[in-house]
Parts: sequence; structure tokens; C-alpha cells
Amino acid sequence: MDSGITVNIKKGEKFSEKVPDNLKNVIIAADMNGTLFDLADPAPEDGIATLININSEKGEKILLHSTAHLLANAITELYPDALPNTSNESEDTFYYDFNMNPISTEDFPEIEKKMGEIADENLKIEKKILSKDDMLKMFSNNRYKIDKINENVQDGQSSSIYIQGNYKEFCRGPHVPSTKFIKYYKLLSVSSTNYEGDISKERLIRIYGTAFPDKKQLSSFLLRREEAAKRDHRKIGQEMDLFTFDNERAPGMPFYTPNGSIIRNELINYMKELNNESGWEEVWTAHAFKDIIWKQSGHYYKYKDDMFLFTLKNGDSYGLKPMNCPGHIVIFQRGVYSYRDMPVKYSEAGTVYRYEKSGEMGGLTRPRGFTIDDGHGFLRDDQIFEETVSLLSMIPKVFKTILGTEEISYDLSVMDKDHPENYLMAYECKDCSEKFMFRAASGELKCPKCDSQNLRTDYSMWDNATENLRKALDSLKLNYTEYPGEAAFYGPKIDVHIKDALGRLWQLSTIQLDFFMPANFDLYYIDRDNKKVRPVIIHRAIYGSYERFIAILIEHFNGKLPTWLTPLQTYVIPVSEAYNDYAESVNKKLKAGGIRSKLDLSDGTISKKIKLVRKFRPSYIIVVGETELSNGSVSVRNRADRTKIFPMDEFIKIIKNEIELRKIEQIF
Ligand SMILES: [Zn+2]
Ligand SMILES: [Zn+2]
Ligand SMILES: [Zn+2]
Repeated sequence: MDSGITVNIKKGEKFSEKVPDNLKNVIIAADMNGTLFDLADPAPEDGIATLININSEKGEKILLHSTAHLLANAITELYPDALPNTSNESEDTFYYDFNMNPISTEDFPEIEKKMGEIADENLKIEKKILSKDDMLKMFSNNRYKIDKINENVQDGQSSSIYIQGNYKEFCRGPHVPSTKFIKYYKLLSVSSTNYEGDISKERLIRIYGTAFPDKKQLSSFLLRREEAAKRDHRKIGQEMDLFTFDNERAPGMPFYTPNGSIIRNELINYMKELNNESGWEEVWTAHAFKDIIWKQSGHYYKYKDDMFLFTLKNGDSYGLKPMNCPGHIVIFQRGVYSYRDMPVKYSEAGTVYRYEKSGEMGGLTRPRGFTIDDGHGFLRDDQIFEETVSLLSMIPKVFKTILGTEEISYDLSVMDKDHPENYLMAYECKDCSEKFMFRAASGELKCPKCDSQNLRTDYSMWDNATENLRKALDSLKLNYTEYPGEAAFYGPKIDVHIKDALGRLWQLSTIQLDFFMPANFDLYYIDRDNKKVRPVIIHRAIYGSYERFIAILIEHFNGKLPTWLTPLQTYVIPVSEAYNDYAESVNKKLKAGGIRSKLDLSDGTISKKIKLVRKFRPSYIIVVGETELSNGSVSVRNRADRTKIFPMDEFIKIIKNEIELRKIEQIF
């Protein structure tokens, strides 16, 4: 962007005199030694000034500021009781706060029209210097301006006000020279706030808007804003009534409404099906544990500050689970396993609680309580390959089915062999033959039995695990990148990224091997020679967290979820009251067929009903009237607004098929 031109200027000369004729439409203010001036101002001294182009960053800010004044001018003309408080600008937008009766975006066209009329008058925006007393008199009807004058101007001093037509503003400036410079603007939103941000003070109406020097910039800004806002899961979630938050009583915790629970349960059921197919058994574990388990697992020391910890009256200390693994370990520990019983694999839609300090309130991407499709497999060393292949086969299937995406990348994180001290390693004492595991970076490395430091480092555990992960990726011909040194201290892992419809990459699935927890919890199975052997734990999640996955799902599909995930699969509307009975029987049949259907017998035109139900993103809207009644058919409107007539029974058959096969595409 053009940052403006520099000119030599003498004390007392007006900046406007220095503007070349061909730039009169784009030069709006001046900058001299870092101080901004109106074009009508005289230079305070001899020197060099930069003339500010409306197409520069500084110019844009002045334009936004001047547009905020234009808004206040329009508001005070349309709503004579409204009291303007103050305005502010950010990168692309401005806001102005008013004490006025609530308005909505429906009032924007009228306000924008008024703004346009004032701009068209090409009013000069003139500065006047007034004494404090005169200013207080001038703004005597606006207590906000009185407050500001008293805060900013000493007694006996003077300051600037600006006048455009009948509108006056207490302001330092600068502004565009006249209202005709404000051509391409738009009001964006309205919210409420409190005076001085203090909730004990009165409510004010905050109106947001934007302005640009040309039409193209304005429309591209509006388009970008629209696309991002349209897809925001918080907005769509509200429109479709999927979830809610109560930041007073359960900050950061998601609550699923009936509609949202449908999506969540469908995802859970699909995962249960997949788990069942591949031998992951469903379990359920408690949410609160005594803190001793978190000390044993090590989570206490690592996550203490992020855990919900509490002490009961009897002194017992508890923590809400930040991880599901220890719960699954408790279940594993109820029995003794032979090598033939392995692997033992538990899975759970397990809710965990982590105190996210800067939690993104009201959103599903970083809540304080979330549920993971969490699985823990207890494996023999020789089972790593097979289980990894099984999981790696599940992952593309899941994302192809749900998101329709095949853009998946795999990261294999392995240890850095130059730094074995960073990892939990197996050692053998050369003096007494004791075998033990230790992470050398965490303390002095010596034999726990004889204190000898004459040790042999045994890489076989890591080598075997890493080699099997690599082999699994290779055998499925998956495209992966290997990252040396990125492994966790307790084992190597595979992370899986998918690309969504907006081109964003998300890390979802993870497959992690863990040598640490089996040792910490002293887990074992009995091998062929009747000896106790440590299993390795495989931690796995496919979706990751349900909350994050649902947010991605909503934004990926813009709320138009595949029918099997859609809370409202069919919406039945009769063309008039005469067909209420038929509509009712259609709705009944759909419901009997297991389809989530709703019937609309309310007053109102079909087009109005369709318009109203749109925000819920139903898969199909079914309209029935004389033709449909006479031949037992339904007129079905799909999401692309195409309509097709089906015999009732046939429609039920094919929509059921679409749902059962979890299709992404609609039936027509
Ligand atoms: Zn101003
Ligand atoms: Zn785990
Ligand atoms: Zn020893």
C-alpha cells in the first residue's frame, strides 16, 4: 500500500496546500514527526511532513475513525435520545458505544442509508479549539462527553472539537477532510457492553462497522468475514441448537442438547462398532480418583496445575481424571493373564478434565472437560505390529466415511539414539546382572541392586517397538514422515493429521507405545515359561476428542452433516391443513423406519416454514399435498434445493440405506 508522499513545509503553512492536485482524492491527513494532523491544520514548525494516503495503514485507521463519527452522526439524527459515548478502531473495524434503546442488525439498512445521505452532503469536518468551559456548555446534554472532557482537559485549558454539519464531537482527530471520503462502509454487528466496562454501570449499545477506500477491498473483506463466520462451529452450533455452555456455573464445560447428543452418540456408536470389529472391548471408568493413582501414574507431577484436585472433609485428596489410562489399568489389574490372553484391549468414550487456563470459552476446541475415544491395549512385544496395522487400517476408513477425506498424513516419532538419557531405557548391570528401566535424565543412573554404574544399555525394547511401527506403516503403504527425537520419553508414536474442507490440518488420531506405565503400575502377564513379563501399553485415539472432532465436523460440512449424523433427517410439511392427516401418517412411517423426523403443522406458508427450519440443516424437507396424498408419494427436497417425488415406501428404503451405509452424498 502507498504510504504517502513527503513534502517540505514551513511553519504556519497548511498541509492541504501541499497536496498535489492529482492526489486530492486520496490524501486525507498529514504526519509530522510522528504527530498526526488534519489537512486543514497549519504546520507547527518548518520541516518535512508525510501526506497520508487513504490507501495506507494510517489512512485506513483515520477512515475507520471518521466512519465511526459518521455513524454517531447518523444515530443521533435517527434516534435523538441516543447519547454517543466513545469509539475505537482495530485493524479492519471500528465500534461506537451509545446509550440508547436496543437495536438490531435489522436497523442497519436505515442507519447505513442515513450515513450515506450525510456522506453525500460532503460536509466539511472542521476542527475548532474551545475552552474547557465552552466545551462543557456545548456537551451539557451528554454526560459521557462531560466525563471525557473532565478527564482529558485541565481547568482553564482548551482542546479541540470537530464539527460536521450539526454534529459535534469532542475529539483530538485527525479525520478525513470531508464526509465524501467515506464511501465504502458497512455496519457489521451490534452487541451490548457496560459504561467503562464496569458491569455495575449502565448498559450501552456497541455497534461495529468497517470502511475501506474502495469497493473491492470492502467486498473482499466482507466475503472473508462471511465465510469464516458462517462456518464457525459456535455459530452453527447455536443455530442448530447442538450444545451450550454455562460459564457461570460450569465454566468451559460443554453441555450437549438433544440435537448435539444425537451427533455425539452417532459418533460414539460408530466407534463402538469399529472397536467391536477389531477387538477393543468397551469399559467404563470412574471420573474421580484418589490422588495416589495420579501420583503413581506420574500425571500428578506433570499436570498438577491443570488438574481439578480437591480434598474431602476426612482429608482424602481426590482428582478428576486428566487421562483415562490409569482407569483402564485398574480394570486390567483385576486379573492374572497368560500370554495366550494377550492382547487385552479396552476402550471407552472417556471424559477427562483439564483446567485450561485460557480456555476458549463457548467453543468445543479447548473445553475444560472433553471426551476421548480412548483405548488402551496391553500387548506382548510380538503383538505391536499386528495391533498397529489394525489401527492404521481403521483410521483412513473412519475419515473417509465421516469426512469424505483421503488427505491423511502420518508422523512417526522415534527416539534420538544420541541421547538415550532422555528416554526410559532398559539397562542390565554388568556386575550383578540386574535388569531395570530408568530415565537417566531424571536422576543418577546406577544399578538399583548393587549401585554399580557398570551398565549395558539395552536398546532392544525401543528398537523392536520402532521397527514394528515402521513396518506397519510400510506394509499399508502409507505416506509418512519420520521424526527422530520426537518420541515421548516413554515410547515411540504415530500421529495422524487430516486436512479439512477449509484446507486446515488437524492432528486427530494418535497411536503411542508406552513402556513407562506398565512398569509404574507393575503390570505383567505370565509367559510360556511361567515367568512374569511386562506388557507394553498402546494408547490410541482415532477421533481424538469428541468435542474437537465435532467442531471440525461442523465447520468441514458447514453444518450440513451427512444424513446419518444429522439430528433432523426429515422435516414434513403439508401444503395446507387439508393434508395434515397425510403429513402425519408420513411422519409416523418415517419415525417407524428409524428416521429422525419432525412434522410441522403450524400456521404459515410453506416457504416461511422452509426458511425457518433451514438453520437446523435438515437432510430432507418433505412437502405433501393433493398429488402425494392421491398416490401415496412424497415430494422430497434435498439440500441443493432440488425436488423429487418418491413413492413413500421407496423413499424410506433408500434413506434408510443412505443412513445405514453412512453415506456422505445424498440419495439424489
Ligand atoms: Zn474523532
Ligand atoms: Zn492413555
Ligand atoms: Zn548391579
